[in-house]
Amino acid sequence: MSNPYHIQRHRTVPVCVGGVWIGGDAPIVVQSMTNTDTADIAATTDQVAELARAGSELVRITVNNEPSARAVPAIRTALDRQGLDVPLIGDFHFNGHRLLADYPDCAQALAKYRINPGNLGRGEKRDTRFATFIEIACRCERPVRIGVNWGSLDPELVARLMDENAGAVAPREADEVMREAMVVSALESAKRAEALGLGRDRILLSCKMSGVQDLIAVYRSLAARCDYGLHLGLTEAGMGSKGIVASTAALAVLLQEGIGDTIRVSLTPEPGESRTREVIVAQEILQTIGLRSFSPMVTACPGCGRTTSTYFQQLAKDIQGHLHRQMPHWRSRYPGVASMQVAVMGCVVNGPGESKQANIGISLPGTGERPSAPVYVDGEKVATLKGNRIAEEFTRMVDDYVRTHYSNRSA
Ligand code: SF4
Repeated sequence: MSNPYHIQRHRTVPVCVGGVWIGGDAPIVVQSMTNTDTADIAATTDQVAELARAGSELVRITVNNEPSARAVPAIRTALDRQGLDVPLIGDFHFNGHRLLADYPDCAQALAKYRINPGNLGRGEKRDTRFATFIEIACRCERPVRIGVNWGSLDPELVARLMDENAGAVAPREADEVMREAMVVSALESAKRAEALGLGRDRILLSCKMSGVQDLIAVYRSLAARCDYGLHLGLTEAGMGSKGIVASTAALAVLLQEGIGDTIRVSLTPEPGESRTREVIVAQEILQTIGLRSFSPMVTACPGCGRTTSTYFQQLAKDIQGHLHRQMPHWRSRYPGVASMQVAVMGCVVNGPGESKQANIGISLPGTGERPSAPVYVDGEKVATLKGNRIAEEFTRMVDDYVRTHYSNRSA
């Protein structure tokens, strides 16, 4: 599936990040970020590998001090040894200009650098640091994300825009001026980077905010005023369902308007929870909107008083788990399988209808219904499963469907 709903993408200049294209006609890229101490080579390598295997197409790591800058080349080598070529992005604040200059192997091992113009100091010092950073990116032929953050906006710029606003005939609300400061900070920094020699095809922008409506307003403004590739993400989205809902609410609106070339979902993991959840959520956002396909989707009804057992919930969970486990093997062997739809429904009310819409679907018996489960393939009823092996038999039918419908005929 490649944008079957013909969402008109905002035109941006494509940027190549270590072989992964962002912007232009490229699919929207999923990225994530580690939360290990980058100086811990083993832990960071493991987490990057875990994120990459979950589907993260770029992984960002913090490079905040000398030990972490020293560790980056070793992390790159360790990933290469595992056959993982996922590009690494260096996240720099305050001292990135110095770390990149002092650790050229680190600069080479990274596929892209992220700089936050609000964290480079003030005045001439800031300008010199920014210039050093950009000159290294030019010399190493690396793209740069200019990432403005709400929490670290340049106070000089805010003061300037506030003063201009105070003198305007029709002054705007303070929060509007703050949003404008985000956009101006990104655009002015990008122009400055271009003036220093960084090509337009090496610049990406982001303006991270924690409010959904703020984020939407800022990115609409950015998209209207430039054609740089845009990195989307709600910052500090939070934990659990709140983080997922807030990120989805913001990103869905912008993606539907064709805005955004790469996304990250910034979830705070629950204690002990895998970092990969943010990758899965990002993929599911893109897939449910219809912009990309990563894994077959299961349509399952929520259940109601017509189903007093949790059997169909368990089956839906087992099938989804089976599909996720199989995808790494299926991806290359069965092209197109990622767009397969599977339905697991709880009773006769909507079961047959939803099952017919899916590639393959099962309608389980509700309370008081005959203990049989019709299975539909491409809209036709092909079997009726009974007894206590319904789950195994349906799983086998799903596997057969994949084999017979998605085999790589050129293989
Ligand atoms: S399909 Fe049946 S069990 Fe599922 S929600 Fe609808 S009425 Fe309830």
